[in-house]
Amino acid sequence: MLVVMKAHASPEEIQAVCDYIEKLGLRAHPLPGAQRTAIGITGNKGEANRGNLEELSGVAEVIRVSKAYKLASRDCKEEDTIIRFDGTNASIGGRDLAIIAGPCSIESREQAFAIAEKVAASGAQFFRGGAFKPRTSPYAFQGMGLEALKIMADIRKEFGLRIVTEALDNESLDLVAEWADVIQIGARNMQNFSLLKRAGKKRMPVIIKRGLSATLEEFLMSAEYVMSEGNYEVILCERGVRTFADHTRNTLDLSIVPAVQQVSHLPILVDPSHGTGKRDKVLSMARASIAAGADGLIVEVHHQPDQALSDGPQSLYPEQLITLMSETEAIAPIVNRSLVHGIKLTATTRS
Ligand code: PEP
Ligand code: MN
Repeated sequence: MLVVMKAHASPEEIQAVCDYIEKLGLRAHPLPGAQRTAIGITGNKGEANRGNLEELSGVAEVIRVSKAYKLASRDCKEEDTIIRFDGTNASIGGRDLAIIAGPCSIESREQAFAIAEKVAASGAQFFRGGAFKPRTSPYAFQGMGLEALKIMADIRKEFGLRIVTEALDNESLDLVAEWADVIQIGARNMQNFSLLKRAGKKRMPVIIKRGLSATLEEFLMSAEYVMSEGNYEVILCERGVRTFADHTRNTLDLSIVPAVQQVSHLPILVDPSHGTGKRDKVLSMARASIAAGADGLIVEVHHQPDQALSDGPQSLYPEQLITLMSETEAIAPIVNRSLVHGIKLTATTRS
């Protein structure tokens, strides 16, 4: 259920409604909007009495949200969610496009810094790099773990780039939350519900990559798991799904971008690297992603892709990242977006 407060409801009235909901053993999620605050009610202990809620001071109406996902839905929050990064001009959602670029895996300090320099020069605002890698084979490179997180923290200091990296399990999630700016939940973990709940207890942005065979509703229910714990900074990412097609690694399902935007206020990015698995298809699909209305891109880049320990064949050369940026900049105004070049730090930046 959703309690819609009157436009002029006071903070005390909003608090009193939240207290009432919590006393019933349910959870209250105040969602401030441009016009008025709405309060989402979640929980698995039955429903609150609608009539009683309607009588509370400052309440305009009480609406039943019929969709399975509630906090992620536009019924709960009409305006697009914009996630901002303290002390920088970087944001995800809203008019400005977010570009997240970097290697699949952090392989060494030298490799990470060589690529980060190129990423910073390209004008991207975020650096990605795997520290904990979900590999199909236990004999494949598994990532450098904490050491990689420390290298990326140094990249943040040196270039200002905000850091995005994947958490594989509870232990790595706590480490990622401590060292990085955005927690990535990988496609293979999209329905790891205990991991999602743990990410929901953090107070930092979480990117959820679409599972290999996830429907739109399953995808949004994963976001709902994170939000149900009080973390509303959720970003979705389309990265291709499994189909019979074998000319690409996965089939990039760009139609999910407008489909998500119709029913949810959450930002959605596209990863054309995992979506195609092939370097020569990444730029085309990046252009298509921006044209389809995505809020930004996640792309893999490597200065020596032939020597990469993971995903070399789909990693762009640094010069291709420059092309991607200029093409993105050219398409952006057609879809009412803009590309702010580079990360700018403001006075309050924590490094
Ligand atoms: C990645 O981003 O490196 C990754 C493993 O992605 P996905 O979870 O989409 O396969
Ligand atoms: Mn990868």
